[in-house]
Amino acid sequence: MKTLFLKILLAVIETMGLASWFYTVGQRWMIEPRRPHDGWNAVRFRKRSSPILTILVAHRVNEAPDPFRGGLAPKLFQAQLEHLARFYRFYDLQEAVSLLWRGALPRNALVLTFDDGYRDNFDYAFPILCSVGVPATIFLTTGPLDDPEHSILWHDMLFDTFRSAPPQAMELDGRWFDLASLTDRQRALFAYRQHLRRFDATTWPSRIRELRKRLGLSPDDIIHGYEKLTWDQVHKMAAQGITFGAHTVTHPILTCCAPSTARQEIRASHEALRKALGEEPIAFAYPNGSRKDFNDSVIAMVRQAGFTCAVSTIAGTNHQTTDRYALRRIQFPCGTNPRQNSARLAWLMLNDAVSS
Ligand SMILES: [Zn+2]
Repeated sequence: MKTLFLKILLAVIETMGLASWFYTVGQRWMIEPRRPHDGWNAVRFRKRSSPILTILVAHRVNEAPDPFRGGLAPKLFQAQLEHLARFYRFYDLQEAVSLLWRGALPRNALVLTFDDGYRDNFDYAFPILCSVGVPATIFLTTGPLDDPEHSILWHDMLFDTFRSAPPQAMELDGRWFDLASLTDRQRALFAYRQHLRRFDATTWPSRIRELRKRLGLSPDDIIHGYEKLTWDQVHKMAAQGITFGAHTVTHPILTCCAPSTARQEIRASHEALRKALGEEPIAFAYPNGSRKDFNDSVIAMVRQAGFTCAVSTIAGTNHQTTDRYALRRIQFPCGTNPRQNSARLAWLMLNDAVSS
């Protein structure tokens, strides 16, 4: 019923020629609490005094989207981009951030980023980005590019484990998890990720291999569908204007490893990009990127490595005063079809002062 109402509302808005206003209203106006901590109990509309920067984060575009790793079918990805491009102007991350700091960002700016550097970014997303004329920044986990024989990251191995395990019950910290339905598997995966956080992140790959053995999967099965980009593909995309940032070497959660390991992961990924592309990378993306996945000490390491900004996955938009080492992003897509995605995006822009 709610979906039908939304469909009708969006159709009416487009028919009346209000789409441009509707989809970009959040860039001019904001909903904010009347007093701090009021939340949704008492809100008011306020005109924004300066533009906001909205950065989208995607991972994968491919023909067989994986419920454990997300992803978007190429046709839908293209339709989403074409719809957004009618109302927003896409910028490269570096250019947008620099315009934001100088107070010169246009009100309809949008940035698209990809994390991890999956091969399908080249195979499917890249041709579409070129044909629609949308720039993007890809955050590379550099280990797999330097060592393609080991291109499967720990979280790929984990997603594959909960996707491929035979239906059975699994014990974890005294609790039993069923692996019958997709929901059961996603619940068990979430619990296992929480369980891993109790241990140093460098031990996670061996723990996951152990789990695979326990669930009847070969610890070192070749896992298809998680292949990463090659440097050759990176160079081809760079020649067409795609930009690249760093995302560590092996994708550890930086607050779950020793400071020396975290520093090395950050520095080595900076160096790998500098060497391969011949210029200093300016942007870094924290693996996983939620509030608990980076802290002041990690931010200091990122700054010392030479990056001038860093993105998280904390949901929201960015202002001139937003910490440039904790830029917020919005998951893309945030709606199932192009209109819903644009409407939801507009809604998130409008109310991020309340929800953040
Ligand atoms: Zn990542």
